[in-house]
Amino acid sequence: MIPLLGEEEAQAAADAVRSGWVAQGPRVKSFEHDFAATVGAAHGVATSSCTTALHLALVVLDIKPGDEVIVPSLSFIATANAVRYVGATPVFADVEPATGNVTVETLDAVRTPRTRAVIAVHQGGVPFDTAAVRKAADGWGVHLVEDAACAAGSTAYGQPAGAGATVAAWSFHPRKLLTTGEGGMVTVDDAAHATRLRRLREHGMNVSAADRHASSQPVLEAYLETAYNYRMTDIQAAIGLVQLGRLAGLVAQRRRLAARYHELLSGIDGLVPVRDPAHGQTNYQSFWVLLDDFPVGRDEVLAELAAQGVSARRGIMAAHLEPAYADVTPAPLPVTERLTRNSLILPLHHALTADNQEHIVSVLRGLSR
Ligand SMILES: *Cc1c(COP(=O)(O)O)cnc(C)c1O
Repeated sequence: MIPLLGEEEAQAAADAVRSGWVAQGPRVKSFEHDFAATVGAAHGVATSSCTTALHLALVVLDIKPGDEVIVPSLSFIATANAVRYVGATPVFADVEPATGNVTVETLDAVRTPRTRAVIAVHQGGVPFDTAAVRKAADGWGVHLVEDAACAAGSTAYGQPAGAGATVAAWSFHPRKLLTTGEGGMVTVDDAAHATRLRRLREHGMNVSAADRHASSQPVLEAYLETAYNYRMTDIQAAIGLVQLGRLAGLVAQRRRLAARYHELLSGIDGLVPVRDPAHGQTNYQSFWVLLDDFPVGRDEVLAELAAQGVSARRGIMAAHLEPAYADVTPAPLPVTERLTRNSLILPLHHALTADNQEHIVSVLRGLSR
């Protein structure tokens, strides 16, 4: 993923510096407002990353030691780590092969009386079935946190992927579609949650530093609970505001490039590229290909692509296979293991040309026979 950062972003960052206000301030406020509006959420609370956004989401839902939180193992490791930050226990669920996402069935299979929450991931931008999973979580009486790190610009049931979520966490790391360098956001539907999230990201203060400094009268703040410094800076938000204006164009371009990949790959047996699910559209944050009965193994394919000048990456990781989770014995996760071992992510970025795509696919075609 090569981020698209232009003169406009450079100018916006410079303007923030020249304004003299570089910490969380007016630009963060605007970015929160505009981002929430774009993804169809009532409130946005900017954070330093999606990882810290996920942490705060679990804190605001009061998830505690002894609680179990179901997460897909097939995700970036931060999804599972956030559960451990609040002292709760991550329980790994399997995913469905077509989307790489958890389903009502895979979640239900690992649910116990101690399950307090689920973190469902819109994996690589592919929306999970929001209607089905939200309804099931409601019925089970468990909280649903949506890890929308990769989902800016994706849709589910004709709406932005985060619309209608109780709480969703977003990322602006350079590997995602929109970037602020580092950065994240929690979006919530509940005003009381938003108020507490603003406090949690800023040392537990009852009045933000920005509001305190903007006041003509001295304001004596109080610290209402032990909290964190997870703030975004106004320099980052300035960049984010410009990036937000690029979102629709970026998604349209990625979908065109993905359609071209589908066309080029269609003649090759044993390769299954990611596609839109029936219930929505992916932003093609990650264009992954599953090797199913392909004559050559995944690592060999990656090596050959590298030898031909193509920087593809392994597919999405599985947290339960990492040393950090060696102490967890999950229920069998056959689909997760098949996907993580046999998939790879092809280059897809704004500078990718038709020639590049043909070259990449010709290497794969060469290996297929
Ligand atoms: C990238 C990513 C994260 C972490 O985002 P950061 O902003 O880098 O902390 C969390 N979950 C998923 C699914 C991701 O892809």
